[in-house]
Amino acid sequence: MSGIKVYSDLSTTTYRTPGHPEAPERVSRSYERLKAAGHAVLAPVVKAGPDDVALMHSKEHFESVREGRFRDADTPYFPDIAQIALTSLSGALSAADSAAAGEPAFSLMRPPGHHAGRSRVSGFCYFNNLAIAVARLRKETKSVRISILDVDVHHGDGTDELMTGKDGVHFTSLHQSPLYPGTGLASHDNCFNYPLPPGTGEAAYLKALEAALRPALDFKPDLLAISAGFDTYKECPIAQLKLEKKSYRRIGAMIAETKLRRFAVLEGGYASELPVLIEEFLAGLA
Ligand SMILES: [Zn+2]
Repeated sequence: MSGIKVYSDLSTTTYRTPGHPEAPERVSRSYERLKAAGHAVLAPVVKAGPDDVALMHSKEHFESVREGRFRDADTPYFPDIAQIALTSLSGALSAADSAAAGEPAFSLMRPPGHHAGRSRVSGFCYFNNLAIAVARLRKETKSVRISILDVDVHHGDGTDELMTGKDGVHFTSLHQSPLYPGTGLASHDNCFNYPLPPGTGEAAYLKALEAALRPALDFKPDLLAISAGFDTYKECPIAQLKLEKKSYRRIGAMIAETKLRRFAVLEGGYASELPVLIEEFLAGLA
């Protein structure tokens, strides 16, 4: 039994593109597994709205998503997508509030967010859930310092873009390179990027994570915000890193060992083992 609170909502499983890896079962199967494992799986307690989206995105972005005024081959329009993306954002905001109050939490929602930029949907993402949650915490408490750690296999290009030069925020991304979206080859400003070659296994990955965590902690954050992708798994159909199931418990534990307030938000992860990978991660994060 683990102490991590999970925010989820099965209304986010109501959209689908046939054959698309970002499928509703990612959330619905994980929801059942985490419940069975004894986690408290709760509906979000914060209700996100367009004003929250505007904390990080352009004024026009919310309307553009609502009305489908965008074109991205990976990120299709659905009539309800703005509302569903707000529900996903509600999970991130709820998890952030829980972390700020001293209780670690995880948002199990879709769509993911870390590729969404100021005025663009991208890579299955519509609103940048984690970036907005961080901006909202910073708006509520101006002095709070936040380190963002993005462990999705893809570079968090949207978060990198949105956080560049932002006071009180330190961004770290570990990702496979070369791979979509092709960015994150070097560090700049307050954004620290760690590209890893295809085939990287657990030992090399954990070593890179340890090295990346050092500057992230030297920043003296009050809180860690984690973009939790599970597409670093060896069976992931769209990437080539080679992490094992147990690697996720170790990653969670390395984060927990910082003793910092912390929350995590689901990003990618497309192997059928996703529910167990999340369970392992949360066991470490507790
Ligand atoms: Zn990803």
